[in-house]
Amino acid sequence: MLPISLYIHIPFCISKCPYCSFLSFTNYKYIDINKYIISILKDLKRDFFFKSDSRYINSIYIGGGTPSILNITNISFLLENIILNFPCKKNLEITLEANISDLNLFKIFNYYKLGINRLSIGIQSFDDNILKIIKRNYNFNDIVRVLNNVSYYFNNFSVDLIYGLPYQNINSVLKDINYIVKFNIPHLSWYELSLEKNTKYYNIFYKNINFSEVDKMYFLGKKILKENGYFQYEISSYTKKKLFFCLHNMNYWYFGDYLSIGCGSHSKITILKSNSVYRIVKNRNFNSYINGLYIEKKYLLSIEDIICEYFICRLRLLFPLYIRDFNIYTGLSFKLIQNKVKLAIKKKYLVYKSSQKFLYLTSKGKLFLNDCLKLFC
Ligand code: SF4
Repeated sequence: MLPISLYIHIPFCISKCPYCSFLSFTNYKYIDINKYIISILKDLKRDFFFKSDSRYINSIYIGGGTPSILNITNISFLLENIILNFPCKKNLEITLEANISDLNLFKIFNYYKLGINRLSIGIQSFDDNILKIIKRNYNFNDIVRVLNNVSYYFNNFSVDLIYGLPYQNINSVLKDINYIVKFNIPHLSWYELSLEKNTKYYNIFYKNINFSEVDKMYFLGKKILKENGYFQYEISSYTKKKLFFCLHNMNYWYFGDYLSIGCGSHSKITILKSNSVYRIVKNRNFNSYINGLYIEKKYLLSIEDIICEYFICRLRLLFPLYIRDFNIYTGLSFKLIQNKVKLAIKKKYLVYKSSQKFLYLTSKGKLFLNDCLKLFC
């Protein structure tokens, strides 16, 4: 059966990072957090029963925003209610996104006690100058202290870094990558800065981005990671061991189902009986959301949408794409995309291994991923 995971959006941040386009609010001190959590649980109940089948929740991901802003009582109330009231797989992966400045020993220990078994830590850079420029409220020493404390309780955790930030040079980026190696970080999510038009940084920095320097950062950083035993399993994800793959995100990239709960989040739910795929977009207006208007829109994906979204998600993963998987995850026949696949093979974006019936992205396909995706969208 198609796996299903649960994403919970906590849209609060201490301040707005100048490059960030995610939905987040900084006035959280004036917000009734308990009311938001109760709304989340009601929203979950609606989505959970909408799917109308007996599928268990396979993983929980609490993201944001900055979920580590919430106190332990809030997180414990949220998790206990989910686990008590909704069927969840045993020993499921539970990830929480956390900011360095929130991660004191008390919180780390209590996350561990609550059954959270994976932390995703937003570091962005180890370089104090860069941290100041992007207005993060911690420094290198704080990062080292937190990483030491986190590794005491958690085997499985991930660090987020960004390359291509304003005033960041190749040296600084490679130092960041070397710290990942030095601290033996189990999982790295390494993103290129992407500036959306609605961010402060877009107008100031977009026109000055030196894309060839950014490409160099990527290739040199990747080389260091590879030389030190990290393998890339997704466009932005690296680990030394399969054990540390992010199961929650893997489900998303494989095009599994996910219930996304909270202000501004998006669910993808397949009604198995009719094989129809729905997208449910949650209200971005916070007041409307906590007053029970959870859904902004709900719509059925067309066959064309499903094919396009499948390839956008699935080609992020650098594993062979088995023909049978297309059918399992979309419910559609491979015949529908045969001609598009042939064209992608002709253009040398994809290769087909007929003996094992799988496709994989060529180096050209990785480099021109957007052009490859255009063939399916
Ligand atoms: S902490 Fe994360 S979600 Fe919040 S503003 Fe910064 S980048 Fe955006």
